[in-house]
Amino acid sequence: MQIESAPIKDQFGRILKDLRISVIDQCNFRCTYCMPKEIFGEDYVFLSEKELLSFEEILRLAKVFAHLGVEKIRITGGEPLMRRNLEELIAELSEIPGIKDIALTTNAVFLPKKAKKLKDAGLKRVNISLDAIEDDVFKEINGKGVVARPVLKGIEAAKEAGLGIKINMVVKQGMNDSQILPMARYFKGKDIILRFIEFMDVGNHNGWDFKNVISKKDIIRTIDKEMPIEPAEENYYGEVASRYRYKDGGGEIGVISSVTDSFCGTCTRIRLSADGKLYTCLFASDGFDIREKMRHDELSDIELEQEMRSLWGRRKDRYSEERSEQKQRNRKKIEMSYIGG
Ligand code: SAM
Ligand code: SF4
Ligand code: SF4
Repeated sequence: MQIESAPIKDQFGRILKDLRISVIDQCNFRCTYCMPKEIFGEDYVFLSEKELLSFEEILRLAKVFAHLGVEKIRITGGEPLMRRNLEELIAELSEIPGIKDIALTTNAVFLPKKAKKLKDAGLKRVNISLDAIEDDVFKEINGKGVVARPVLKGIEAAKEAGLGIKINMVVKQGMNDSQILPMARYFKGKDIILRFIEFMDVGNHNGWDFKNVISKKDIIRTIDKEMPIEPAEENYYGEVASRYRYKDGGGEIGVISSVTDSFCGTCTRIRLSADGKLYTCLFASDGFDIREKMRHDELSDIELEQEMRSLWGRRKDRYSEERSEQKQRNRKKIEMSYIGG
């Protein structure tokens, strides 16, 4: 494969740096804001084995992306730990020249079984989703009646395995705003960063309404009142979370404000769905079918690279900014459980 060193840029000059790979669309949870059980019920048809990209196909694409400047890979889903032998994929991804970081987003339930294997395979970090620390609230949110304990056990397992850990909590008014302080209290001083995520209008089924969004400002104000915090500097260019540190040295928290304070200007991410569609924005309506290009058109690596170069070169996405400019209404979007966040 020929090597071109210049980073590739989209229509707004944003370079391509991160690849998010969804490895499965199924999940053991039915979070109300992501896969509401009324929609994702017993008879919901998930992707078949044949429709999913194989590990070979994922690896091939990841290598091409690494050539185009991708340095970071995040594995997601659905619940990525439901994909069999995931550690084998991670081991191979971590061998790709140019890939500096591999992370995983998970609900952590399967981590006690998997954390060590994943770490040994080359995984560096996990983002663990936990939306409430109180069982009654958490059981309602995950739609499966699962209490917080299995997730906390997953966090312990990740820690023991030596994985970096961040906790993600989606905050939705009326769902878990009561948990902002209990979650902050629980993780303060534990050397684990808790990040609050504004409830986003991804997908078509989660009944999103702006009035359910608890803004970054409100989250910060709530925490600061009880546990004083101050802003901390950005760790790296394009970091999506605003960082704050506890003034008493109890560690830090982050807030991801994709709704009230968007960050499209520094968005360097491309997303690959479990069935091989590429999306240049989390809020896109359509993906680019790269699986078809591999399986049917039998493109060479160089041809695949050209397709991706041109896809990124055409990119003009800035949905969150347009949302705040009130330009986006009623457009059909992909589901979060399909694309993986
Ligand atoms: N199942 C894994 C998990 O929950 O960590 C990975 C996939 S999940 C789709 C990825 C992340 O997206 C989770 O942290 C989840 O909370 C977040 N998410 C899903 N729907 C969301 C929404 N409407 N707004 C904000 N975040 C959302
Ligand atoms: Fe599953 Fe993650 Fe979506 Fe919850 S947020 S339903 S754990 S994919
Ligand atoms: Fe990136 Fe699209 Fe999110 Fe903007 S809205 S930050 S372009 S994924």
